[in-house]
Amino acid sequence: MIWPDEAQARRDILEVGRRMYAGGYVAANDGNISARVGENAVWATPTNVSKGFMSEDMLVKLDLDGNVLEGTLSPSSEVKLHLAAYRSDPGILGVVHAHPPIATAFAAAGIPLDEALLQETVVMLGVVPVVPYTCPGSRELAESVAPYVKEYNAVLLEHHGAVTWGDSVMRAYFRLESVEYYAKMMMNSRLMGVTRPMTEEQIDELLALRPKWRVDRGGRPRGRDR
Ligand SMILES: [Zn+2]
Repeated sequence: MIWPDEAQARRDILEVGRRMYAGGYVAANDGNISARVGENAVWATPTNVSKGFMSEDMLVKLDLDGNVLEGTLSPSSEVKLHLAAYRSDPGILGVVHAHPPIATAFAAAGIPLDEALLQETVVMLGVVPVVPYTCPGSRELAESVAPYVKEYNAVLLEHHGAVTWGDSVMRAYFRLESVEYYAKMMMNSRLMGVTRPMTEEQIDELLALRPKWRVDRGGRPRGRDR
């Protein structure tokens, strides 16, 4: 296993934080970001800091049990969710959690993103299920997400927000952008009063592209009723 360069991982976390904040995916000090850099080492964002204004000395290095290895600030209580994701799939090297407003409206409504409306979304994400409600920062929250990691690329947390993961922290972040876009398209189709998913054949054809696009999970979104 070749682990990511630690200095690059820390820079990527800061960059993702700036993009998340500038994109309106988090308000105030919301959200958290982490990158796995070793067998038992993760860099993560601290609690009580705006993700748009972080410097490298604010980041915290943890082992997979949540013990602090480096850094002076406290890690976010939601980092437990990140660690559970890393423990459940060793291929995951980045996790991002935020409250992007349209995806979070679906999370509040308890509606999964599961309609085959757009080609890229079918291939890259598939289904984004809703993880049932748990208390923020709780062990239940961390444990509730872990079972979804191997099957999906992202989840919505009921009445809370979104979590994405991937083989790098940047890839996890781009998935967050794709989740918000997916939610925007589902909302727009509802506003238009026309929801017209693809046919099952079209979905089959797109799912067959996943290996080439380096996507190994995601589930099958709903096609057109006939
Ligand atoms: Zn949150």
